[in-house]
Amino acid sequence: MKQIIQSHYDSIMPITQRPDLVFERGEGSYLFDDQGKRYLDWVQGWAVNCLGHSPKVLVDALVQQAETLINPSPAFYNRPALELARLLTKNNVFDHVFFANSGAEANEGAIKLARRWGQKNKNGAHEIITFANSFHGRTLAAMSASGKPGWDCLFPPQIQGFPKAALNDIDSVQALLNDKTVAVMLEPIQGEAGVISITGEFAHELMAFCDRNDLLLIFDEVQTGCGRTGSLYAYQQLDIEPDIMTLGKGLGGGTPLSALLAKTAVSCFEPGDQGGTFCGNPLICAAGLAVMKVIQGESFLASVRKTGHYFKTRLQLLSEKHGLGEVRGNGLLLALELGRDCAYDVVDRAREAGLLLNAPRAHSLRFMPALNISRSEIDDGIYVLSAILGEMAGERHCG
Ligand SMILES: *Cc1c(COP(=O)(O)O)cnc(C)c1O
Repeated sequence: MKQIIQSHYDSIMPITQRPDLVFERGEGSYLFDDQGKRYLDWVQGWAVNCLGHSPKVLVDALVQQAETLINPSPAFYNRPALELARLLTKNNVFDHVFFANSGAEANEGAIKLARRWGQKNKNGAHEIITFANSFHGRTLAAMSASGKPGWDCLFPPQIQGFPKAALNDIDSVQALLNDKTVAVMLEPIQGEAGVISITGEFAHELMAFCDRNDLLLIFDEVQTGCGRTGSLYAYQQLDIEPDIMTLGKGLGGGTPLSALLAKTAVSCFEPGDQGGTFCGNPLICAAGLAVMKVIQGESFLASVRKTGHYFKTRLQLLSEKHGLGEVRGNGLLLALELGRDCAYDVVDRAREAGLLLNAPRAHSLRFMPALNISRSEIDDGIYVLSAILGEMAGERHCG
C-alpha cells in the first residue's frame, strides 16, 4: 500500500488537527482509507453527502454535465441553474434564488440582501439580531454574525451590526430592537452548538415580532435544509414563513453548492450588487438538481422521518443502558448528551474501531449520516458505540 510521505502532510496549512490517515474511496455509508480499512461514516462530509458517498445519480449527473458544459461564466444563463432554481422555488414560500459555493457565502448574500432592503425600505437600518452559540460560517461577516464562544476576539475588528440574543428567549430579542434593526437571523436547529432546536412557541413569537416591527426573518438552513430534519426545510415543521433562507451542505450532495432564497418583496439586489465567478455554474447545479430530485421524490422524506425515529430510539436505549443524557434533534440530525467531557475520546476510539463520529462539544456527540442509511448500518454503529462506552465506563473515563 502506498504511504503518503510526511513532507506531503507538511505542505497543507495546519488549520485543524487531523488524524494520521488518508481517505481514498467512499461508497454509500462507508469510507475506505489508503490501507483499505473500512469506516462506517456518520459524519458524511459534515452532513453534506445526503445520499451517501458517490451515489450513482450524482456521479452520472456530474459526468454527463462535465461532458456537456462546465462553465459558460455567470454572465449567461445555463439550463441546470434554471431548472434547479425552478425546483427550489416550487415547494415553498420563496420566489428567487442566488446560487453560491458555500454556506458562508450564501449567508454573506443574505446579510447583504437584508442591508440592501434596509437601505431601500427602512432608512438605512442594517443591524441583524443573531444568537448566542449560533454558527453561520467562516467569512468575516458570517463569523461576526455567529455567536460561537471566542470568535468575537479571533480577527478583530469584527463586522459591526450583529447584536446577540439568547435562543428561545423573545425578551432578549426585544431588548436589542432599535431603529437600526433590519432583520433577525437564526438556525432553526443550532447544529454546531450541539443540535439545539428553537421551540415552536419561540418561532411564532419571533415571526410576530418581525411582522410587528417590519423586520426580515432570515433562516440559515445550511445544515437543517434539504431533508436533513425529515421535512424538505426545517421551517416547514414550525408553521411559519421566513423572508430569506440559505441552503448549503446537503444541497450539492457533497459538491460545493449553496443557495440564497428570498421572497419577491425582499429580493431587491440590483445588477452589480451580487455575483461570483463560480456562482450557478452548470456542473455543480446539475449535481444539485440530481440530488434535489431524489430528495423531493415520492416517499423519500417519509423514509428519512422513519429512519430518524429508529436512530433516535436506538440512541435513547443506548443512553439508558449507559446512564447518559438527553437525545436531541429531528430527522437525521441528532445528538447524544454524554454528561461528561469525554466526547473527543469517544470520537478517537470510534474511529479506531471503524466508526466516524462528530463531537460538536466536549460533552456531546452529533449524528449526521446519509439520509438513506439502512437500519442494519444504524445497528452496526450503535453496537460499536455501545462497546466503546462500556469499555470507557470500565476505565471510569465516562458514563
Ligand atoms: C456549515 C454551516 C455554515 C457554513 O457553511 P460552509 O459551507 O462551511 O461555509 C453556515 N451555517 C450553518 C448553520 C452551518 O451548519
